[in-house]
Amino acid sequence: MTIKELLKYGEKLAAEHDKEDSSIKLLLMHFLNLDGHHILMNMNNQVTSEEENCFKDGVHQYIDDNIPVQHILGYEYFYGYKFIVGPDVLIPRFETEELVANVLGAYDDFFGSIEVDVVDIGTGSGAIAISLSLEEKNMKIDATDISEDALTVAKQNAKNLNAKVNFIAGDMLEPLKASGKKYDIIVSNPPYIPNEEYVESLVKDHEPHVALFGGEDGMKFYEIILSQAHEILKPKGMIAFEQGWNQKEHMEQLINKYYPRASFEIIKDINGKDRMTIIKIE
Ligand code: SAM
Ligand code: GLN
Repeated sequence: MTIKELLKYGEKLAAEHDKEDSSIKLLLMHFLNLDGHHILMNMNNQVTSEEENCFKDGVHQYIDDNIPVQHILGYEYFYGYKFIVGPDVLIPRFETEELVANVLGAYDDFFGSIEVDVVDIGTGSGAIAISLSLEEKNMKIDATDISEDALTVAKQNAKNLNAKVNFIAGDMLEPLKASGKKYDIIVSNPPYIPNEEYVESLVKDHEPHVALFGGEDGMKFYEIILSQAHEILKPKGMIAFEQGWNQKEHMEQLINKYYPRASFEIIKDINGKDRMTIIKIE
């Protein structure tokens, strides 16, 4: 078969099953080991039967078995960096890239260009911690997770990407309080889906539930962090969260309860959803 025929084969199946075209292109690039440009330039080239079989197998896993395309590929790009992913970690999302960008901007505004101690709570694949560390050399980063399996993946990502991040296993702020270390910045994209909320099977059947669900109203981890942050934050500090699109009012209530004098901003993502909160305390 030619590249063009393979692409048509995948796109037709995707259309019939209401699945993403873009995933078919990713699978094609992956199994032919070509970038998008080379695919376009070589549409009429023949592929080997091995390439054809691997691609078709990937397409069927994606379409028939409903496996996330990132699990078939084994990676996802985040902030321009290639992160390995698998069933033990949340696949990093586009929204979270916006959180990283906003944390970098807020750091510049609030701290200038001084060295700061940062902790990423619930690091998963390490996406936030590793990207921050690679983007801003003044950030000295610790990253925690309750899942040892997630930390194994995160450590591998830090190694692959040459990032210096110190990983710590433990429940929320417990290991941090125990160490006595103080931080300038806390960043977290905690699990925030309400326990009983509907979650599409592509996510629910393949991503760790410990990464998704945040108690009855999804606010459990924000309250844990906000109620204890004073124990690990320096007197001048910043807290940055990703949150669910409908959690703005809840978030405001929690901030007013625990940090009534802090200034904070709730920032919309590219889709116009209230997605991030940055709290500045001094
Ligand atoms: N930071 C990653 C990202 O943005 O892609 C992963 C975020 S995922 C929504 C939440 C992470 O919090 C998961 O990796 C999960 O294992 C971790 N987590 C859940 N409960 C935790 C707890 N009690 N203490 C620490 N981490 C926890
Ligand atoms: N954005 C993820 C989802 O919708 C949820 C991530 C989280 O709970 N922090 O599947």
